[in-house]
Amino acid sequence: MSDVTAGDPAAGAAGAPAPAPGPAARGEPAGAAPGNMQAWAAAGDTGWEVFFARRVSHAYLLAGPPGAGHQEAARAAAAALLCPHGAAGRACGRCDSCLQVAGGVHPDLVAPDQHGIDAVRQVLATLAYRPRVSARKVVLWRDVDRLTPQAANALLKSVEEPPPFVTFLMTTDHPERVLPTLRSRCQRIPFRPRPREERARQLAAATGSEPLVAYWALRVAADDGEQAARLLAEPACGEEVAQLRDAARRLREGGALDALEVARQLAQWGERAEPAAEVLVFLLRGDDATLGAGGDDAEAGRGDPVAGGHPGPGVRPEEPGEAPPAARLAWTRALAELRRALQANANRQLALEVFCWRCWRAARDAGAEPVPPGPRAGRGGRRVLP
Ligand SMILES: [Zn+2]
Repeated sequence: MSDVTAGDPAAGAAGAPAPAPGPAARGEPAGAAPGNMQAWAAAGDTGWEVFFARRVSHAYLLAGPPGAGHQEAARAAAAALLCPHGAAGRACGRCDSCLQVAGGVHPDLVAPDQHGIDAVRQVLATLAYRPRVSARKVVLWRDVDRLTPQAANALLKSVEEPPPFVTFLMTTDHPERVLPTLRSRCQRIPFRPRPREERARQLAAATGSEPLVAYWALRVAADDGEQAARLLAEPACGEEVAQLRDAARRLREGGALDALEVARQLAQWGERAEPAAEVLVFLLRGDDATLGAGGDDAEAGRGDPVAGGHPGPGVRPEEPGEAPPAARLAWTRALAELRRALQANANRQLALEVFCWRCWRAARDAGAEPVPPGPRAGRGGRRVLP
């Protein structure tokens, strides 16, 4: 039941820890190892220690929709497998090995970025040699659904029976496109989609950045965690979020001319105008509150409730996330309209002006109405920062 046989695509994430017979059974190096990644995937990263076991399968296929965390998990697993100081399935993150993995220069980490037959031949040639510094060699291959049929076929035998010191960590956003014979030779680890808010909190904690900035980076990177981490390292990322906060403030508190000015600025964002509009609505709706503390509380004058009364026009609702439903709906609709217009190649500037004007008007109308008493229902799932 809980036995996860290699290649059983129905093997769910809910199974009990049951790593496929792996190197340990073949007398291979144990060391820090992500023993049962299905369970880990099911439990989120926090489940890592819980499900840690000192056995490693020879080939894993980490699969999930973009942003599900499988790409990051594969890299973390590679680091853990190679780190000599890892414990409980985690890399130490500080040793030479970990730094080399992070820099993509570990001598025993094979991470091809091509998917053709030549790439497979190169990898196979590399695997003929024993690891140089670690106990094992790890092949970290992203997006194996992109392997050509010829390449995937050439890889089959090695994935089925690699040298004892080799572990394959393969990832895909499209498991159905992976050659079935390749898929069936891997222990498949399904990842569920995760809300961007949750990933932003995690990324922020890992990089020491502010959750909203991490959220913005993820949005710009189309939920690619590694790309988002690179974006986060650039100061521009934080500056853009500061501009978005300012734009949200102007739409909430300013006049119609402010709305037009915001539209003019957004038009200069090029490809990022649409993500920017999306995050703007996120801010207007107060959904950034779900990201946890840190951020604009101080500057936005939040937590300054009008005792016994209700906010007048232009005053932000005291509690983020408590904007009237009509306003929330209007912002969502404005965003949908903007997307349609941009997809239809409508006049960009005009589309943004309409969007900003609608957002501003909804905010103004919301401010003019009493905020309904009591917490808004239906906003379940608001998470508390660990
Ligand atoms: Zn380490």
